[in-house]
Amino acid sequence: MSVYQKCIPHAYHASIFEIPYQTLKEQGINSLFFDLDNTIIAYDEAELNHKQIEFIKELQKDFKVLVLSNTNYKRVNLALNKMDIPFIWHAKKPLKFGFNKALKMLDSKKEETYIIGDQLMTDVFGANRVGIGSILVASVKRKSDRMITKFNRILEKFILKNIKKKLPKIYDERLKPYVLSH
Ligand SMILES: [Mg+2]
Repeated sequence: MSVYQKCIPHAYHASIFEIPYQTLKEQGINSLFFDLDNTIIAYDEAELNHKQIEFIKELQKDFKVLVLSNTNYKRVNLALNKMDIPFIWHAKKPLKFGFNKALKMLDSKKEETYIIGDQLMTDVFGANRVGIGSILVASVKRKSDRMITKFNRILEKFILKNIKKKLPKIYDERLKPYVLSH
């Protein structure tokens, strides 16, 4: 399978608030990994706000939830400091290491797990390599991307171009709205 095929998410939704979690639950999904930066909060925000905290707390009633982030301990710990939620920092997505560690921490099966994230090159690519589901969301605030992410966005453009050319139907359904979101 080519790289571009491994960068195709199972679905796209405009934000974490718009995902049909009930449907996922009915499909037997019991574990959710969330990327942090630009998925839950913008990179230039330090802590989750009340709305974000309450929303994730509600999800924790139905799912095992974990934050899987490529950023450093200090950042993730501060962002989640008002929450009782497991997290992994320096996850090195798209490498499999962080995903496998997360599955172990939650005692979850990959068939019953989804990751929700805003990047094809890390969240979606990593998920497909490990064999878990993925939902792509629009970045909370694209302008706040870090340097490494700006680099990934360049690769992402090439990947998107490839998918558009080779799998136009899938592109229209799952990636076009993502491209138009920023
Ligand atoms: Mg992100």
